[in-house]
Amino acid sequence: MAVRTFKRGLRFPSTRKEATEGKPVELTPLPKQVVIPINQHFGAPNKSLVNVGDRVKRGQKIADAAASGPMTVPVHASISGVVKKIEPRTQSNNTEGICVLIEAEGDVEEEFLPSLDPFSCTKEEALARIREAGIIGMGGAGFPCHVKLSPPPNKPIDIIIADGAECEPYLTTDEAVLTEKPNLLILGLIIVMKITGVKKAIIGMEDNKTKLLPMLEREIRLNEKASSIGDIGIGLCRTRYPQGGEKLLITALTGREVPSGGLPMDAGCIVQNVGTLVAIAEAFSLGKPLVDRDLTVSGGACGTPKNIRAPIGILLPDLPPVFMEIEYGKIRKILFGGPMMGNAVPNLNIPVQKNTSGIILMTAAETVAEPEGPCIRCGRCIRNCPIRLSPVIMNMALEAGDLDEAVTAGLMDCIECGSCTYMCPARIKLVQRFRVGKGRLRIRQQARQAAQTAVQPAPAKS
Ligand code: SF4
Ligand code: SF4
Repeated sequence: MAVRTFKRGLRFPSTRKEATEGKPVELTPLPKQVVIPINQHFGAPNKSLVNVGDRVKRGQKIADAAASGPMTVPVHASISGVVKKIEPRTQSNNTEGICVLIEAEGDVEEEFLPSLDPFSCTKEEALARIREAGIIGMGGAGFPCHVKLSPPPNKPIDIIIADGAECEPYLTTDEAVLTEKPNLLILGLIIVMKITGVKKAIIGMEDNKTKLLPMLEREIRLNEKASSIGDIGIGLCRTRYPQGGEKLLITALTGREVPSGGLPMDAGCIVQNVGTLVAIAEAFSLGKPLVDRDLTVSGGACGTPKNIRAPIGILLPDLPPVFMEIEYGKIRKILFGGPMMGNAVPNLNIPVQKNTSGIILMTAAETVAEPEGPCIRCGRCIRNCPIRLSPVIMNMALEAGDLDEAVTAGLMDCIECGSCTYMCPARIKLVQRFRVGKGRLRIRQQARQAAQTAVQPAPAKS
């Protein structure tokens, strides 16, 4: 089988995955509490549907859209118990957001949706099921899944890609999904093909997982629906960072380029993380809302690194000490997500969310603490940017406060992979600046929109 890839990017001397690679996913003990952010998606905000003192069942909807609109996704209780607090808490993106704190109490009771046959229901019923189950992209961005599966008519889709290219160091959750749930992954893929009417799908993964090929090929062969729905194949990519990025995976597997400022649908593709596809399969076969999350917990300050399945909202300190053997005194940096694209958070009392792929507890030896120096114009950031941008130019524009120049240099095409920062000999925090720059741009756009709305003439009175 041909192995494909993209130009530039990084090859890490060590991916640091060995601590959890090949380990089965272990179910966490039932925590005494969960803290569930009511807004975990990219879109219009939710409002709480419960009050302090309410008893809730696992799977019960506890928050949903404050206003109607397509970009909304509900949130569900991940354990049975009693709502003790509804208050703002720090979330994994370091912003404050309303969270529902549920304390475990009484017997575990479940309130799942009725199962639904994806092959006899209508497209509208299927999309409504995916929304009702609260499914968002679990690879990181948190985009509502039902919206991604409803591209506008002028964006025809002909390829679905299952993203199993887990290119971030330390993380091994997608590999665990491919190993342990291939039947659900393929069912999820078939459901997506049925909904979209697309006849071709590719499971994309890196060439460090070739041992999984025979098992995946057998699962595709054994699935009764697979051959009648279309063509499902496997695409191998070089183990290279950031191969799992949507745009780079599309290029590697199809030869197509997502245009500047565009989305995968502009290249005729929909990309779904393998964990998201499993969640879709479970939403139909079990009626299960997205209440659990598989994630990797690793890093030098974690005594027993593991792949775990945890209820959404769990706080790691609530687990029995012997479960993870966290060495708190050794922690220098806590990351939600991987070391390249994840967020550093101030403490471990941050809840696991639907898009938390890992928590990395790094020691001093694993972190770089060198101070930033001046740019030496070496061009290494340019040579390694997988999107072919000029990070040094974008950074100079941002330092000069020229947002428009930064946009012209490609700021909005930056996928925040961090390759430039990793390669910069002057240790300039390029990607962090680009994230801040994008935030400033969003604020400026909102201010301009608000100003335009304010000057709209009032309608004439009759
Ligand atoms: S400019 Fe953006 S896309 Fe390019 S290497 Fe840096 S972080 Fe990655
Ligand atoms: S890698 Fe760093 S030092 Fe080299 S050109 Fe880019 S910003 Fe400057």
